Amino acid sequence: MALIVHKYGGTSMGSTDRIRNVAKRVAKWVRAGHQMVVVPSAMSGETNRLLGLAKELSPASSSPEVNRELDMIAATGEQVSVGLLAIALQAEGIPSVSYTGWQVPVATDSSYTKARIESIDDKRVRADLAAGKVVVIAGFQGVDGDNNITTLGRGGSDTSAVAIAAAMKADECLIYTDVDGVYTTDPRIVPEARRLHTISFEEMLEMASLGSKILQIRSVEFAGKYRVPLRVLSSFTPWDIDINEEAKSGTLISFEEDEKMEQAVVSGIAFNRDEAKVTLLGVPDKPGIAFQILGPVAEANIDIDVIIQNVSHDGKTDFSFTVHRNDYARTMELLQNTVGPATNAARVAGDPKICKVSIVGIGMRSHVGVASKMFRALSEEGINIQMISTSEIKTSVVIDEKYMELAVRALHKAFDLDQESAAA
Ligand code: ADP
Ligand code: ASP
Ligand code: MG
Repeated sequence: MALIVHKYGGTSMGSTDRIRNVAKRVAKWVRAGHQMVVVPSAMSGETNRLLGLAKELSPASSSPEVNRELDMIAATGEQVSVGLLAIALQAEGIPSVSYTGWQVPVATDSSYTKARIESIDDKRVRADLAAGKVVVIAGFQGVDGDNNITTLGRGGSDTSAVAIAAAMKADECLIYTDVDGVYTTDPRIVPEARRLHTISFEEMLEMASLGSKILQIRSVEFAGKYRVPLRVLSSFTPWDIDINEEAKSGTLISFEEDEKMEQAVVSGIAFNRDEAKVTLLGVPDKPGIAFQILGPVAEANIDIDVIIQNVSHDGKTDFSFTVHRNDYARTMELLQNTVGPATNAARVAGDPKICKVSIVGIGMRSHVGVASKMFRALSEEGINIQMISTSEIKTSVVIDEKYMELAVRALHKAFDLDQESAAA
């Protein structure tokens, strides 16, 4: 008997028929003798719908007071899901009970709309499991030290599931979704994308942090920190397929680099449309200027991603960086009203219509010329690179948003990711 955590995403929970299917699948695992904790997301579209209602009443505000209420509202999506799934399981003859985040409780900090899990008390859940019940726990949510309901950021049910698996030392955490695993890139953008049988934890971490929305980055961080065996697989296979076959399907996030396996140089391509670029033109090129610009940005709690400073002409330079698109207006205002005048910048410019495209692969450590191959492929498509950032296992470029799909397709081809050997 093993303790298994299943997570089902919004599409997998999208209708009562689909919820019935989820229940039948979970029932199969119970009948095979496993203890089951199930973490569903809200039904597809529901979180957007709920947040949309709030936006109608307060279009622009992101004050802590409004954010608190957004969490109050958004958390109800998962509350409906857990109740429905528990009923569907009971209808299958499987005893089950549902809990919201605060009932477990899943303790978080108080950063509304992007709270971090601090601890999980599994006493109640363990007691239910011991009593032979399936425990259905709402994803995406927790409770802070003052009993306020919090949510974990979009896609946060992944993190709930992995954190619960970590806290309970589950034997495995299975993330059921609307694709049958992790692909070389988003198959919605590149139909030739191939499923990876395994992906190393480090690559998955990079893919998630660079914008691949298949897993929320914090879920991968948790899996790494607590060594949670993690697999991404399809919820759309027939529920009654052989359980052993199902248990081996999809993509395993692997913690071991297989020395024997010929590593593909590039394993995957990620992209991110959520950033915006800002530039201070004609700032004095002198010691401390980066700090003078980025210090106030950091103080305003704005995260910075790619940074570029040009060579100077006549003692003046241009300084660009990217921020989350949600922070674009705030950053522009800060630069125009405060940082620009303080640094004697000639002008402030901004471009919210950019995107970041990245190639990822641990094979990049031991191969040279990977970045230049990337740049060549982009130049052959006439795509201008605005910024570049690299680390040991990734190279990212910032380009005009309108070329994103073209860039992803060109790179997928250039690195032979549609070939079996590259994806194996
Ligand atoms: P869920 O609702 O199950 O959490 P998500 O929509 O959050 O599902 O994530 C699954 C989606 O992630 C897929 O439908 C796919 O379009 C997208 N995706 C992005 N990058 C990848 C990738 N590398 N491999 C597979 N799917 C990806
Ligand atoms: N329902 C939440 C969202 O849409 C959490 C999740 O689906 O993981 O972001
Ligand atoms: Mg998701």
